[in-house]
Formats: sequence, C-alpha cells, structure tokens
Amino acid sequence: MRGQMMAMPLTIHSLIDHGARYHGDTEIVSVETDGTKTKMTWKGISDRARQLSSALAKLGLFKGDRVATIAWNNSRHLECYFGISCGGMVCHTINPRLFPEQLIYIINHAEDRVIFFDKTFLPLIEGIREHLKTVDTFVLLSERDDNAASKILGLVFYEDFLATGDENVDWVDVDENDASSLCYTSGTTGNPKGVLYSHRSTVLHSMVAALPDTLNISAREVMLPVVPMFHVNAWGIPYAAAMVGAKLVLPGPGLDGDSLARLIDDEGVTVALGVPTIWQGLLASLEKLGSSAKSLNRTVVGGSACPPSMIAEFRDKYGTEVIHAWGMTETSPLGTANALLERHASMTEEEQAKVRESQGRPPYGVELKIVDDENNTLPEDGVAQGNLRIRGHWVVDNYFGAEPGTTLEPDGWFETGDVASIDADGFMTIRDRSKDIIKSGGEWISTVELEGIAVGHPGIADAAAIAAKHEKWDERPVLVAVRAPGTNASVEDILAYFSDKVAKWQIPDTVVFVEELPRNATGKVLKNKLREAHGDVLLPA
Ligand code: ADP
Repeated sequence: MRGQMMAMPLTIHSLIDHGARYHGDTEIVSVETDGTKTKMTWKGISDRARQLSSALAKLGLFKGDRVATIAWNNSRHLECYFGISCGGMVCHTINPRLFPEQLIYIINHAEDRVIFFDKTFLPLIEGIREHLKTVDTFVLLSERDDNAASKILGLVFYEDFLATGDENVDWVDVDENDASSLCYTSGTTGNPKGVLYSHRSTVLHSMVAALPDTLNISAREVMLPVVPMFHVNAWGIPYAAAMVGAKLVLPGPGLDGDSLARLIDDEGVTVALGVPTIWQGLLASLEKLGSSAKSLNRTVVGGSACPPSMIAEFRDKYGTEVIHAWGMTETSPLGTANALLERHASMTEEEQAKVRESQGRPPYGVELKIVDDENNTLPEDGVAQGNLRIRGHWVVDNYFGAEPGTTLEPDGWFETGDVASIDADGFMTIRDRSKDIIKSGGEWISTVELEGIAVGHPGIADAAAIAAKHEKWDERPVLVAVRAPGTNASVEDILAYFSDKVAKWQIPDTVVFVEELPRNATGKVLKNKLREAHGDVLLPA
C-alpha cells in the first residue's frame, strides 16, 4: 500500500522560495570586489535570481545547460546560484586558483555555455578565452565598465543582462533528481573530476547541515562563509541559510585576518566557516586589533585537520566553540561534524576537549566504515586505522562524464583516500591521506597528529610532516616548518616539544625550516612537492 501524502519535489526552488517568503527581509551583506559593502535581502536575491533565470532562457539556454561562475562570495554570485539552478540549468562553480590548463580543461569538459565572473578574474579570462570551445557569452558581474569592455569583445555586463529578464517568470520545473550544480575536485594528480550534485541531494544536505549536532543553524544566526562559493558550494551554506532564513555575510575578496575581524564585529557574525589557515590569520588579527569577537559563538573548521591548539585558543580567549567537521567535494561536503553526546556531559573539561579534537560523527544520511587493503572491514575501536569509505544521500555516485560504474568500489561505497580510525561511538579521526602516511619499520605514523602538535609550539607558524626515506626504517617522519615571525627556535627545541606528546619512535627525526609551504588551489599542502624537495634529507650525502 502506498502512503497518501503530498509528494513535493525536493528542489533548490523550494529553498529560495521559503527564504523569500518567510525570511524575506533578512539581510544579505556583501563585500564587493572594490571593497564596498552592499545590503540585500532574501526577497531581493530571489527576485533578481528569477530575473536572471529569465534572462538566461531568453539568451537561448535550455534545461541541463551548464553555466559557469568564477567569483568571490558576494550577492551577485548568490543570485547566480539560485537563478541558474532554479532556471533548470547547472551552476558550475570554478576555482580561480587552478592552473590555466586545468581551468581550460574543466570548462571544456563541462561544456559551459556562459561564464559569469568577477572583475578580479578579467585577466584570467582574457588569458584562457581563446581555448574555450563552448562558451559563447562572457558576463562581468558588475555594472557597465568601459575599461573591461575594451578587453573582451562582446563582453556583457550583469546589470544590463539582468534587465533583459523578467522578475515575474515562474521557475523552470525540474525533477528532484535533476542536476543542479557542478564542482570539480582540485586533482593534485591527473585531471580534475566533476561532481554533479542534484536538487534532491542539495536539499537533504541542507536539512542535515542545519541540525543541532551538525552546524546548528537557525534564523537567529548571522553566518559568515569564508569558505569560497567556488569550493564545494561554500560547504552548502548558501542553500542551508535560505532554508533556515539566516542572515548571510559574504566577505568578497577580503579574506585576510584584519578584514574578517572587522566584518565579524561590524555585522555581529555568530557563526563563521572556513579552513584552519584562514583562522590562523583571524586569530592573529583579533589579538592585534584588541577585538574580543564578542558575537562569534562558533567557528566551523574543516578542509584540513584543525590543530588542537586552535580549538583551545578560540575557546579560552574568545569563548568561541570550534566545530570540527570533515568532508569532500564528493560528499557535498558534509561527512562528519563534532558534537558531544549526552554522556560526555559529566566529563572534565579536559576530557571533553579531547573528544572535540576528532573530526566527529556522521549525521543522519551518511555512513562510514574503515577497511584494510584487502577490503576487510576493520573494528571501530578507536585504534584500528584503515581506508575510509563513505556512502549516503549526498555522496557522489559517478563522476561527471566518467564511464558508468567507475567511481565507487565494488561494495557500492566511495573510497575517500583518507586513512582514519573510528571509535565505538562513531567519532572518526583522520590520520592521513593514504598517499601521505609515514610507514616507519612497518608501523604507521600519523602526519596529521605530528602537524597538530607542531603548530602548538610558539615558534612555529605552519608545519607539514612528510615521509623521508630512511636506510634502516624505510621511512621516518621529518617536519617541514615555517617559523613564527620574530622567533628562532632550534631543531632541538622543537623536537623536545614532542617528547611528552607522542611515543618516542614517532618523534620526527629532524626539522627543515622553509619560508612557506606549497599549497594547491584549495589550500591543501602539496606533500608530494615537499617530499620531492626534502624526502632525501635523512639519506647519507
Ligand atoms: P574540502 O576541502 O572542502 O573538505 P576537498 O574535496 O577539496 O574538500 O578535500 C577533501 C579532503 O580534505 C578530505 O578527503 C581530507 O583529506 C581533507 N579534509 C577535509 N576536512 C578535513 C578535516 N577536518 N581534517 C582532516 N582532513 C580533512
């Protein structure tokens, strides 16, 4: 017997419609590329997105066509998110930090027809334009700009383009399983791979992202997504914020600590989301500016492991709770988030702090397991480490354009490439990327753990642990570190700092000081580059 309830499709249309109808006057604050601050509302975003969907249809675009964006977090970009997807097209967000060859590959692979871009990226577009095979319209996300017009023949200006559309059109109907947006992984090796999200996966992801034990967001929040809208849909915040009617503060290009600290204070931001390196800059600026970040209740930290010292600094100096979360482009991205269980309430503060260091537990809708190299499922005892696999409602099934059935493992799970342990309560701890882990004399050493300790040393601003070749042990850990400004700790000082924190055989053999760590387009340290440069330091000359 079938249930007899209304079957309303789970579409992105329903998110923006709810935001516009029930939270219509809630503000969207946006920092533009020239640094000016503008204010919009959910109703305003919705109206302009509708007009955009109509303008795209008039341009001759059809359901399923890919429309690209290369833009900062700002209100026009937000309009593109909703206008493109609710117009039945696919919003393809592009990471401008990729190499030009990768950008060309991605745009041609996605067969984008239109590109919306911020003025910052005009030189980038000029540079790659002649290699783009499918794009026939370039739209600058601004008013008319004569200087830009002289650079690209036929350049269209967003405000003029919008004016060609009708803000009273109906959204284009879609099936909830239709594609809504597209994001490519950064692909350290090989070509980037596209993850094609659906309306349904996006709505389910938003619902769960808002839950109390995940990001805990409501209409009372002022949210600052520092994580870029070109990186896994800014962790889904634009959609989840529309669903709950939260105020959004979109920081534009100003991602330095000072700009963020001021924005947090000026706008009364309650939740900010981003990667650890961004928060390092923010913490330094808060201290320098003498701000107490009074409004900031929570920061959500993900993308790479959050050092325990960062959790402590936010808590002790600013009363800000850190929610440590883990995910991937392939998982929309929410895979786990760290929140305490009822039974942790009776623990000491120190014991609780220890629990909060892990990447957290899967919310409803996601399942995790760890397996060994022979695909045997490993125990969830907090000790066994293995290859982390995931499945769930918002996890990739097949990469865009890939042969069907080539993305998942034979058991139907997605192999993350991470090595993790999971404890009896389901708390998952990332130990490494499988290709980065150090195998010393047959024992595994977690680079993530060594890095977390290293940056707690006052003389270290940034650090990466790598596997260096070793004659006897095969591999041994070496720390590559960037000194904190104005400090001069010795190798011995730093190694001594590890002595009461890890087993003796896990202490790095040496420290190599560098000016800066190489990072990829999504801010992750390029360990392969570091291994190339420093992987032989322990071998005889
Ligand atoms: P994102 O950076 O948004 O998480 P990517 O797809 O670019 O998405 O990268 C995913 C990878 O980033 C994961 O497989 C994992 O290696 C790493 N990662 C993400 N979050 C964390 C975290 N909290 N701790 C450790 N590693 C993380």
